[in-house]
Amino acid sequence: VQSVAEDFDFFYFVLQWPGAYCDSRHSCCYPKTGKPAADFGIHGLWPNYKTGGWPQNCNPDSQFDDLRVSDLMNDLQREWPTLSCPSNDGMKFWTHEWEKHGTCAESELDQLDYFEAGLKLKQKANLLHAFTNAGIKPDDKIYEMKDIENTIKEVVGFAPGIECNKDSSHNSQLYQIYLCVDTSASKFINCPVMPHGRCDSRVQFPKF
Ligand code: 5GP
Ligand code: 5GP
Ligand code: 5GP
Repeated sequence: VQSVAEDFDFFYFVLQWPGAYCDSRHSCCYPKTGKPAADFGIHGLWPNYKTGGWPQNCNPDSQFDDLRVSDLMNDLQREWPTLSCPSNDGMKFWTHEWEKHGTCAESELDQLDYFEAGLKLKQKANLLHAFTNAGIKPDDKIYEMKDIENTIKEVVGFAPGIECNKDSSHNSQLYQIYLCVDTSASKFINCPVMPHGRCDSRVQFPKF
């Protein structure tokens, strides 16, 4: 019996540190709902192939519909805040994430499932809590990448991908954390392929 071809192999669940988005070259704008908490925010849940490539914009007929996620609106504003300018309510960011990435996972998750899965995964990882327990704080100080990696590995169970960017003084700083997730978006898995992160061995954890 011929099985249905898989559309993708796994997800990257990508979290962003707002302090690193905001103090980089492009700077940022707080959403209309106010300054986000000093916590990791969700960037997206991105279908990927184990060969490193990915599909995107898979279904132009599937537009983001805020009515389908109206029950999640408060959680999205809190956990999936937009930092791009000009200041807006986040609808543009969620529309972009759904249309570019979410539509490529529609065989697994409808729109409500997709955003709900992101929210649940963030809660499950609880990265800021793990960092705090390990003495790693967003205090503008320099931390060893291996301490950051090990802390995440201990709570999530698998090694993360980590992406850095540069602040205005060109210091390498913690920007995004990539966790790999199974195709049902319910559990963390070992990454089939790591995203290409650019971090020095010592990185700054900027304040927000
Ligand atoms: P950048 O070039 O800034 O790393 O990524 C630009 C955009 O490309 C991201 O916002 C994301 O939508 C997409 N992208 C980058 N890397 C990956 C990846 O490894 N997997 C997927 N699915 N999308 C990616
Ligand atoms: P990079 O040079 O960082 O691998 O990719 C630069 C840009 O090329 C990404 O931000 C993304 O826009 C695009 N890109 C690279 N690989 C893929 C892929 O497998 N699929 C798609 N759709 N875009 C890709
Ligand atoms: P990606 O294509 O990498 O999934 O998402 C990047 C796009 O989302 C860019 O067009 C960017 O302007 C927009 N965007 C809106 N809010 C944010 C935010 O808070 N962080 C990031 N990284 N991109 C955002």
